[in-house]
Amino acid sequence: DEALLRLKNVKKYFPVKAGVLKRTVGYVKAVDDISFSIQEGETLGLVGESGCGKSTTGRTILRLLEANEGEIYFKGENILELGKKEMRELRREMQIIFQDPYASLNPRMKVANIVGEPLDVHNLVDNKKERERRVKELLEAVGLLPDHMQRYPHEFSGGQRQRIGVARALAVNPSLIIADEPVSALDVSIQAQVINLIEDLQEQFNLTYLFIAHDLSVVKHISDRIAVMYLGKIVELAEEKELFENTLHPYSRSLLSAIPVADPGHDKDRIILEGSVPSPVDPPTGCRFHPRCPESLDICSQQEPEFKEYREGHWSACHLTDKEL
Ligand code: SF4
Ligand code: MG
Repeated sequence: DEALLRLKNVKKYFPVKAGVLKRTVGYVKAVDDISFSIQEGETLGLVGESGCGKSTTGRTILRLLEANEGEIYFKGENILELGKKEMRELRREMQIIFQDPYASLNPRMKVANIVGEPLDVHNLVDNKKERERRVKELLEAVGLLPDHMQRYPHEFSGGQRQRIGVARALAVNPSLIIADEPVSALDVSIQAQVINLIEDLQEQFNLTYLFIAHDLSVVKHISDRIAVMYLGKIVELAEEKELFENTLHPYSRSLLSAIPVADPGHDKDRIILEGSVPSPVDPPTGCRFHPRCPESLDICSQQEPEFKEYREGHWSACHLTDKEL
């Protein structure tokens, strides 16, 4: 059973330049040796605070950024070895939905062209009539009306604009969609609508998702499995229910406890994370989370914990997990 997408030891470092000579003085280790796979039809949630490398991971998969090291298999083929032309064809199969639908839609283009453009680029329609019919179908699929075709992005609400972005991504019949914080810029009241839409489209269009979010509550229901990322590393990976019920990694626990709950008494159990994510230029030694970890041990600053499978399909990288299980 070959996964639709498989990352093996992928690294993406950005050089840090300094001085008049712009010498490389270090590297931002945005994605630092990560491996995971996504099965066809599956949704993998990728979660972590901003600056943890989630978007870089998504862009590296699409080769909008080039990985420094590692292998990325799509349908069994290492896409990092593909040439420009092959990659262009493959890109149709992998689409991205961005966080800010407004910034990603051309403000001077009517919806008919925003959604229709990819059909032209990839030669997916033979004539104007077919194009119009396809655009109508796509708008309908995302819950927009046919007469929205003649309007411009600014005439829509944030939620509707994200629907346009989804329709545009769907136009080329992709198999993998990377949704990079697709609801983070939307009002909380409409986030659920857009998440439900994305979920409904999965079966209808036979889609596989990498769903990126900084908030665990956003990926909770939509994900089959969840990967938690911290400072360029995946620190925990498990099925959705398992991750929520048997959380192993202290970083995941702190993200979980940040989810607001109805019971006010729950507040006293809250783990408040101190400070922000340290710089990935010079990440902390040992476990990268140790300066902020409420449960850190002596060993944590010295030795990097190994990413290990502790229960079936449940992976964690933490010395504490090692002691307890
Ligand atoms: Fe905390 Fe240590 Fe586990 Fe890192 S390895 S998460 S510092 S307990
Ligand atoms: Mg991001």
